[in-house]
Amino acid sequence: MSNLIPDPSALQIQSNPESATIESYVSREADIGGLSVHRALPNRKRRLVGPWCFLDHYGPLTFETGKPMDVAPHPHIGLQTVTWLFSGEALHKDSMENEQLIVPGQLNLMTAGKGISHSEETPGRNSSKLHGVQFWVALPDAYRNTEPSFHHHSKLPEINFGSARVVVLIGALAETLSPATSYSEMIGAEFNANQKDDLDLPIKSNFEHAIFPIEGSILLDKQILQPDVLYYLGSGRDSLSISVSAKTKFLLVGGAPFGEKILMWWNFVAHTSEEISRARTEWEEGNRFGTVRRYAGNRIPAPPLSVRPKS
Ligand code: MN
Repeated sequence: MSNLIPDPSALQIQSNPESATIESYVSREADIGGLSVHRALPNRKRRLVGPWCFLDHYGPLTFETGKPMDVAPHPHIGLQTVTWLFSGEALHKDSMENEQLIVPGQLNLMTAGKGISHSEETPGRNSSKLHGVQFWVALPDAYRNTEPSFHHHSKLPEINFGSARVVVLIGALAETLSPATSYSEMIGAEFNANQKDDLDLPIKSNFEHAIFPIEGSILLDKQILQPDVLYYLGSGRDSLSISVSAKTKFLLVGGAPFGEKILMWWNFVAHTSEEISRARTEWEEGNRFGTVRRYAGNRIPAPPLSVRPKS
């Protein structure tokens, strides 16, 4: 997924985990190659949750013809993309000749490192449905120029808490470790409850966490959490005591406070504006990021550095 909204101010971003109460951030509408998304991160006041720096939620939607998702080739540096679906399908293609279909229950993890380009689209054979998320994880300085890679995980570990089922996408929860490669201490998990229940989830007190509800109802600290709002919980909690309604689904993201200043502009995570400017130039010149040969169509040109953001 590509962040198509140019943000030329290349906002300086630093983690600030100190928080006593739950902070709530309503997602904003954004458009990704014609697909409407709810963007929960970054937002003006909260840039990072651990290493998590970007969160798009799209669907649920049904369609008869065409491709609701068709994000042409675009570059990334300094981050990992984490793609996770609730329904439907998406097809990833990249400049390393990877081509991978993803369906619900599977994880696509692309480590951009020093540079990769990819496309994401609805495959021709599909279920006429689409619902999912894409997150970005900022790579810490020691790994941000690593070689790019792509991994598909068709099966991920699950944990049962009471009547609820939790899938560990990346990182570890209650000592259950995802096979996905992570470069800093973090957690990404999907929580599913099929019946009304009161639950205690063990979480790490040195992590900052956020909850992103997808459906159903969650009661936390006497507050009902709503879908498409990001709830930042800060750090210092060693358990998450929640009451859930039947058919509740949410995502839990978190990690050790990132502790590095990062810059985000377009699809790039970097440390300096020079790095961003160079990556932009090298995408436009076409040398650094390879070619997504399997994608039928043109690639996405970089927005001008001078363009003001749309939102
Ligand atoms: Mn992308």
